[in-house]
Amino acid sequence: MIEENVRKLLQELPAGIELVAAAKARTADEIEQAIAAGVEIIGENYLQEAERAFKAIGRNVKWHFIGHLQKNKVKKAVEIFDMIETVDSERIAQEIDRACASRNKTMPVLLEINSGREKQKAGVMPEEARALIEKISSLKNIKIEGLMTMGPYSGEPEVARPYFSRTRKLFEKIKALNLPNVEMKYLSMGMTNSYRIAMEEGANIVRIGSKIFGEREKR
Ligand SMILES: *Cc1c(COP(=O)(O)O)cnc(C)c1O
Repeated sequence: MIEENVRKLLQELPAGIELVAAAKARTADEIEQAIAAGVEIIGENYLQEAERAFKAIGRNVKWHFIGHLQKNKVKKAVEIFDMIETVDSERIAQEIDRACASRNKTMPVLLEINSGREKQKAGVMPEEARALIEKISSLKNIKIEGLMTMGPYSGEPEVARPYFSRTRKLFEKIKALNLPNVEMKYLSMGMTNSYRIAMEEGANIVRIGSKIFGEREKR
């Protein structure tokens, strides 16, 4: 089932759109099935789960961190991940930079935008994104490569459209500034119920879980 889901999805996605298989709460075996069918990037939200899966699977695929990163988990995250999609503060960017420096590594990062301006949600407020980028772009061991957003959760996919559209505008605006050490390449938006709308609004990374692995059991 997983393999068939992946094949259908890969057929549907136009060239230039990267698929991140969002693998929270999935077993290494389930992830392996997705890889066998052509998935090249795995998205993980939790360090413990990521470590377990990474031990079993290794570097045959790219690993993206898509959860909320805590300071005490940064070292581990830097060991495992090829991209951190959820940078939303100067402090966490500095921690990533420091951890990378001691391993001689440069970490590609995306800025997570709180496009719904929700108090309880992670991400930087849209109007603060530029200032944050200007602050952290001088860090030598991270490389800012774009923006990521979730948008407010809703069962209704169209509800997400204005948030995706605004994040795209912000992306273009920052891109046009041509800031030093900033390369606005990736716009990561859209999940199972919203990836089609996200692509229409300019996403070039979509993060898809349930449509690949089936409905999640509640944790
Ligand atoms: C779980 C998750 C996804 C995928 O969600 P689905 O609805 O299962 O496709 C995408 N992005 C993030 C950050 C997630 O936590």
